[in-house]
Amino acid sequence: MSASPVRLEREGRVAVVVIDNPPVNAGSAAVRSGLLEAVAAVAADPALEAGVIIGAGGTFVAGSDIREFGQPLAEPQLPAVLAALAACPKPFVAALHGAALGGGFELALGCDARVAAMDAVVGLPEVTLGMIPGAGGTQHLPRLAGVAKAIEIACSGRRVKAAEALRLGLVDAVAEGDLRAAAVAHALALGGRKRPVSALPVPADPPEAVADAEKAALRAGKGRPPVVAAIAAIKEAATLPYGEALANERRMFQALRQSPEAAALRHLFFAEREAAKVPGLEGAAERPVGSAGVVGAGTMGSGIATCFADAGIAVTLIDQDEEAVARGLACVKQGYDASVAAGRLDEAEAERRLARIHGAVDLASLADADLVVEAIFEDMALKEAMFARLDAVAKPGAILATNTSYLDVDRIAAATKRPQDVLGLHFFSPAPVMRLLEVVRAAKTSPGALATALAVGRKLRKLCVVAKVGEGFIGNRLYAAYRRQCELLVEEGALPEEVDAALESFGFAMGPFAVADMAGLDIAWRMRQRLAATRDPRERYCAIADRLCERGRLGRKTGAGWYRYPPGARRGEPDPEVRALIEAASAAAGIARRAIDPDEIRGRALATLVREAERVLAEGVALRASDVDLVLVNGYGFPKHEGGPLFWASRQDRARLDAATARLA
Ligand code: NAD
Repeated sequence: MSASPVRLEREGRVAVVVIDNPPVNAGSAAVRSGLLEAVAAVAADPALEAGVIIGAGGTFVAGSDIREFGQPLAEPQLPAVLAALAACPKPFVAALHGAALGGGFELALGCDARVAAMDAVVGLPEVTLGMIPGAGGTQHLPRLAGVAKAIEIACSGRRVKAAEALRLGLVDAVAEGDLRAAAVAHALALGGRKRPVSALPVPADPPEAVADAEKAALRAGKGRPPVVAAIAAIKEAATLPYGEALANERRMFQALRQSPEAAALRHLFFAEREAAKVPGLEGAAERPVGSAGVVGAGTMGSGIATCFADAGIAVTLIDQDEEAVARGLACVKQGYDASVAAGRLDEAEAERRLARIHGAVDLASLADADLVVEAIFEDMALKEAMFARLDAVAKPGAILATNTSYLDVDRIAAATKRPQDVLGLHFFSPAPVMRLLEVVRAAKTSPGALATALAVGRKLRKLCVVAKVGEGFIGNRLYAAYRRQCELLVEEGALPEEVDAALESFGFAMGPFAVADMAGLDIAWRMRQRLAATRDPRERYCAIADRLCERGRLGRKTGAGWYRYPPGARRGEPDPEVRALIEAASAAAGIARRAIDPDEIRGRALATLVREAERVLAEGVALRASDVDLVLVNGYGFPKHEGGPLFWASRQDRARLDAATARLA
């Protein structure tokens, strides 16, 4: 039998229970049994008057073993540990450092007091994994912080730092020096008295505060079942006897952890870890990146420069003339002003970040940059010329990246004498906000350059997904196929607003036509023009979007696209002119329009995504299915609770799905 991950040490009359389950002391059946034994030992030993629970290494219990939630839970379960702590006549103090999250924080809340190190964070991330806390979290949190604050913390799943935790009463003290010694002293100071959180009354929050917190949580959480359940459980803390509310919490937890939504969110959690594993990079040397350059100070370039400045990296932002540079810098400043106004950033920090960005027109100012990202117009000839110039000015070993949406990175690399240092860094708009970053590994990209780009991506706090070269990489390739299918549906009889409504009801943040209007119709228009010469003439081509562009309807920015946007309108409105244009296009293509129901719209759009995803995998453009899911969820508004197109497909009746994809062909 292997040694228990929990050991009992003694410091005079205090037992120090050490959880030692590397790397993060995750909860497990062995940890829980060890805790039960330790609590029993403390209770039975007259020489001991109190206990301290602490984690070995750099953290308390950072969370539960997430794999456990997909299976029947092994005994003993966490509520049994909490019950033992409650029943033990001697008080326990939780000593928190590193992270105390989920079951880890629930364990701490089951103790009689909590002492935190300055670096500690606490939180209940269960809702973000499709569940609710299941071991008293929803009952103990409101007793300490109030119902409104508990709703905010549990529904967002955010990490609360030690100083805020102290202010909210989630911890009793913050230890500046030795945590273990402080916790032992705190345990002795309790003088043997129990003070379980369960015995505290729930503070009476003003009803408006609770209603506001509830509304905000439902909005941010899109009204998903785990958010609704967490709110209900927390409110019960104030309305039901403790035992009854605790049992209800456990019941909801058990039901939700086995839900398809929780399975999808677990899939995405593990997908993020997998995405970081890139074959062929073992032993590759990362290069230091202390300064960066961005060429093209438009929508993307100014956003990308902001990302570098946010990460503490000095950046030179280049455009063709002073005016364009000034526009780019003004755009950056506007972004920071908005963050300050919204309270996300303090003014001094915004100033510091802004000061990291310098504008310039001369490419020679990039001579010292360790990494350059090109974000000029989407045009191969322009990009080739730019890379030849960058090759001439950049220092040896500098990485040259393109933010191209669709273009062939191998060709761009071939314009330089250092193709081994060229790759794609495909940011999404708005760059400072969107977490996804497709990192495109070109045929000649060296492992060192790729490893460096991934390290920079992580420093920018992006979710990096590696793709190979191919028209539109992973995301834009799938999205182009999906959008085209939606346009065919419109040509056959559906209206844009019907397609958008059907896909929004599936859970997409926005339907494809609302998205197109927001992003601008001209990008895809240019792509279609570029591909026109090589398009298979037998391929069905829907020209409605071209007709819109020819009329100057380029989307929101021109006041009209698939919808019209009267001044001040928050959403687009269906436009009779577009309807007439669509009907004329159907007639011109010899198509008798028919009503298409939402099920058919969803079925065809999703089957298209799945079919294209399978091709991307077969061609090796994506390394693995879960990478495709990450891209669609984090870059294209595919609903998280469905886990991405390939996870969704794995849950469908395969014969039906195959029939649907066969029909598309
Ligand atoms: P944009 O038109 O807003 O900006 C392009 C900028 O590049 C302009 O300011 C222009 O003056 C400048 N520029 C053009 N040629 C230049 C040159 N030779 N030297 C210096 N500056 C030059 O375009 P954008 O939307 O920011 O797109 C830039 C790139 O990013 C494109 O390749 C695009 O496909 C890609 N991209 C765009 C998005 C998006 O949503 N807009 C998303 C991902 C990737």
